[in-house]
Amino acid sequence: MGGHSGSAPEDREIRIQAPQLAGRAFPRAAVAVGAGVFAVLVGVVLIVVGLIGSMPTPDRPGSETPTLGHPVTPAVAATAAPADLATATATDSPHAVADDMPPHGRRSAPVEPSPDAVAAGATILRLQRLDLTRYLGSVVKRGDPGAGMVALTFDDGPWRNTRTILRDLTATGSHATFFMIGNRLKGEPELGRAVLAQGSEIGNHTYTHVRMKKMSKSVFDAEVVRTQDVMFSLIGWRPRLVRPMSGSQDVGGVRMAAQAGLVVADWSDHSEDTMGDATVASILRNATFARSGAIILMHEKKKETVEALPAIIAALHKRGLKLVTVSELLDASK
Ligand SMILES: [Zn+2]
Repeated sequence: MGGHSGSAPEDREIRIQAPQLAGRAFPRAAVAVGAGVFAVLVGVVLIVVGLIGSMPTPDRPGSETPTLGHPVTPAVAATAAPADLATATATDSPHAVADDMPPHGRRSAPVEPSPDAVAAGATILRLQRLDLTRYLGSVVKRGDPGAGMVALTFDDGPWRNTRTILRDLTATGSHATFFMIGNRLKGEPELGRAVLAQGSEIGNHTYTHVRMKKMSKSVFDAEVVRTQDVMFSLIGWRPRLVRPMSGSQDVGGVRMAAQAGLVVADWSDHSEDTMGDATVASILRNATFARSGAIILMHEKKKETVEALPAIIAALHKRGLKLVTVSELLDASK
């Protein structure tokens, strides 16, 4: 569109009207030269003002002088200076920077990663390296019987028992997989971080604990995809496994999971700990019936399951089975 292009000549005409008004008797050529010189002078002045405005001012409050009791570490000072300069250039006024800043703005101490955060990061890297692509689109119920491994899985957490379970896993050099409910993790994200810090895996157990039978795409997004996003934002981990309530029910859900990059993970052995009359002895018996390659289903909230866990781990170890996460079991399976 050429509508605006006509404004440039108009501007030029307006500028040369000033000398024209001052002396109508001047020849047109002299007026044109005078206007040109005037325009160049204005341009030079603007450039000089611009350079002065963008120059760093060493005595600007808030840039280098730390406030007492709030020491600035070298890392913070190094990042604060360019930020100040960028703001000064953008606003063209050092005072605007000082006025905008809160009393202790940009001087908060750097956050040191905790040992747990470092350990969780290592778990995430370890699990992300595993290749599960060959399982996408199918329902996994067990791993390779020749793997010499089993995978304990704990559903429906996080729960107040999560830390007790982690303690028993750590004491025996074991890892497990926790299929967590999105809206429960939102209430206690620190338990999810603790699971990762221990070296165990977290799977997606939907956002509100629902079945996947005849699930529409919009419900899948609200229950499964949302859980992926919530977990990632809370604990930095995007699960690779999904297990809906009661396990997988139809191919539609499996297909949507595969499109979302998720492997559907059911189980080969049920501890039957959801039965009302389940006891420590019955859970121990059911869980340790498992053979190599098994994926064993248990539930975090069941008191008897937590009580049986040390004996379950001991019995599986006695048979030479290593306790690993579901992803590790699948990765190790041929
Ligand atoms: Zn469940």
